[in-house]
Amino acid sequence: MTFEPIALAAPGVRRLSPYQPGKPLDALEREYGVRNAIKLASNENPLGPGPAAVAAARAALEGVGRYPDGAGFGLKRALAARLGVDAMQITLGNGSNDVLELVARAFLGPDTEVVYAAHAFAVYALVTQAAGARAVVVPARDWGHDLDAMRAAVGPRTRLVFIANPNNPTGTWLRAGDLEGFVRAVPENVLVVVDEAYFEYVDEPDYPDTVGWIAKYPNLITTRTFSKIHGLAGLRVGYGVSHPAVADLLNRVRQPFNVNSAAAAAAEAALRDEAHVARSRDMNRAGLRQLTEGTKKLGLPHIPSTANFVCIEVGQAAAVYEGLLREGVIVRPVANYGMPRHLRVTVGLPEENERFLKALDKVLGGSRR
Ligand SMILES: *Cc1c(COP(=O)(O)O)cnc(C)c1O
Repeated sequence: MTFEPIALAAPGVRRLSPYQPGKPLDALEREYGVRNAIKLASNENPLGPGPAAVAAARAALEGVGRYPDGAGFGLKRALAARLGVDAMQITLGNGSNDVLELVARAFLGPDTEVVYAAHAFAVYALVTQAAGARAVVVPARDWGHDLDAMRAAVGPRTRLVFIANPNNPTGTWLRAGDLEGFVRAVPENVLVVVDEAYFEYVDEPDYPDTVGWIAKYPNLITTRTFSKIHGLAGLRVGYGVSHPAVADLLNRVRQPFNVNSAAAAAAEAALRDEAHVARSRDMNRAGLRQLTEGTKKLGLPHIPSTANFVCIEVGQAAAVYEGLLREGVIVRPVANYGMPRHLRVTVGLPEENERFLKALDKVLGGSRR
């Protein structure tokens, strides 16, 4: 008999395909022999973290002989004060992906269903399948969440709804009135996770801050992260805010030391560094304009985005992606999101955006104009 671990795997895990991250810079340089490559593929802050966050992480390294504070007291207290909630409502995660997984682990099982939108963040499908639950994927409207159709998809077995606002990879977003109408209409025994990984980037007047809704809708869970505007993707810190009884359940399945001490210290410092957040937001706003105006000039449509990335319709995206790699520019193909004609481009430094636009023009050979 041959050793067949796949036959031993839990049913949900057998059909799972792993999350596909963006290509790392050193892999591109190794494989394609290009130098000075740039990466606009993982929605990272091109400015990186602010100096205060880096200093706090460095200082924390002196103490790594000890286990971190398993309760995350300092960071939770800082978040609670900032968000106007009780520390008991917060669940810290090793990135907000970790929190999404904790929600799945705490609430899903084989007889449950999860509703989310087509082209929504890939982790929803991953954690749903791994938990052995059934995914109900609702077709999108104009690339965004169709909340009416999602409401109609909620049935007696639905335990959880995932909503990304704004959504990755499409960049589409939901208005406060529409989203609150949805949350109000969903039965209270269905949890609604609103994933706000790009919250700090959005500057639309109708964009909701759902943390303020939790007092009214106890089935609501808001998740946010330090990976995006705070520039701490490599350290892995995110959090969920929920009703304290929900947070208690999430904390039961959480590994006791899931957020390391350097990450917690950096996150606390990053939260206070409002200047870095403002600088990052301003730079992103200008960069998003640079990318969309530049690609418009090349005759390419894009999906309007409020985040730090934009999906550009390039036609044969796989070939264009390859061409860009040869020019030393890494972007993200999104065929695995059902979008084979688009590439997702993260807003970079002004000179990186310019380099992407030049490379794209070259790869398309001017033939599009
Ligand atoms: C990046 C991202 C996250 C979280 O990433 P973490 O690094 O795990 O915090 C969550 N949701 C969406 C939609 C994202 O794009």
